[in-house]
Amino acid sequence: MIRINEHYLKLKASYLFADIAKRVAAYQQGKPNRPIIRLGIGDVTRALPEACITAFHRAVDEMAVDQSFRGYGPEQGYDFLRQAIAENDFKPRGADISADEIFVSDGAKCDTGNIQEIFDVNARIAIPDPVYPVYLDTNVMAGRTGSYRGGRYEGIVYLDGNRDNGFIPSLPDASVDLIYLCFPNNPTGATITRQKLQDWVDYAAANKAIILYDAAYEAFIRDDDLPRSIYEIKGAREVAIEFRSFSKTAGFTGTRCAYTVVPTSLMAATASGDTHSIHNLWSRRHSTKFNGVSYPVQRAAEAVYSDAGKVQVSELVDYYMANADLIRMAMQDLGYDCIGGKNSPYIWVATGGDSWNFFDQLLEKTGVVCTPGAGFGACGEGFVRISAFNSRENVTEAMDRMRRALA
Ligand code: PLP
Repeated sequence: MIRINEHYLKLKASYLFADIAKRVAAYQQGKPNRPIIRLGIGDVTRALPEACITAFHRAVDEMAVDQSFRGYGPEQGYDFLRQAIAENDFKPRGADISADEIFVSDGAKCDTGNIQEIFDVNARIAIPDPVYPVYLDTNVMAGRTGSYRGGRYEGIVYLDGNRDNGFIPSLPDASVDLIYLCFPNNPTGATITRQKLQDWVDYAAANKAIILYDAAYEAFIRDDDLPRSIYEIKGAREVAIEFRSFSKTAGFTGTRCAYTVVPTSLMAATASGDTHSIHNLWSRRHSTKFNGVSYPVQRAAEAVYSDAGKVQVSELVDYYMANADLIRMAMQDLGYDCIGGKNSPYIWVATGGDSWNFFDQLLEKTGVVCTPGAGFGACGEGFVRISAFNSRENVTEAMDRMRRALA
């Protein structure tokens, strides 16, 4: 009989969101008249910016006429979008990235998940804890880990985040080949300074490693001293791949558009010591396995960079960040230490005890749903994630309930 990829069997079943749903359903049965407020989700709630909708509609109309209809587009994305990205997301920040180094895709989830396949199966992988689970699970599927024991996979170098380091992991003691970093961070909301990011870039250069830098939440950075792109850091073109997404920036979670930057200067070796371009490898992978993002979606994404689009996107981000301010202030007033929420839509709250206990208590007393930190890794225990992605009314109501019940 045909055999399965047995590495899949090592995957720890993710009970997190199923468990949350079960507990919420039980609560609802007991208190059917009290509306639940969900601040656990990492999905946006507001409509696409008007500039994107207008461009989207116009592009759909083009598809209705033979003369302007488009079939397969370039796998790496249309030039109009790649140019707009390079001009607006990198050039003004002094980051030397050209349009042909940008690969447009249907999501940072797919890209952060797929990227590992162009690297050796024996590459030593460093992954933060707590973490966005995609980085870890895709390496398990690829066979880069041993079994799951005592809350961790054998063979992974975990980069611990904790209160002492402010959830900015220290450089590993051991030499590693591939390093996943995510700033602003999901789930902790932590951000990294230029100096700390420079330390990582220098480490990668010294160890001939590559950093996979997930900047899906860069639009939420309000402090101009913080780097938005790793390519603002000296030497990063030689050691880093960056992932970006329109999902949280412009409300594209259901529309799907993202991009990955692979500089042409990024190289890696074969067993015999020859060096090869990572850009060429990713280009080959992308064009073999992916057929491009739809034309109307790319036109909608391009509109993010129009004058009107920039204003509307910044209003959208400000809206969620005002929610984040309300959450952070309420939690601090209630005596909880918080990380994040200043340059990130997530607030990471130190619960002073078991994170599932806190979740249950919060649900029972207020009907508000958060996400227990233990679901993001062993180091997430003792924390919960509260998301700013919701309506102002819901966030205000949730904080009022918490102030009344937890004070
Ligand atoms: N990276 C991080 C850190 C995320 O939190 C998410 C979504 O929650 C993604 C990537 C996925 O983004 P996309 O919607 O572009 O697939």
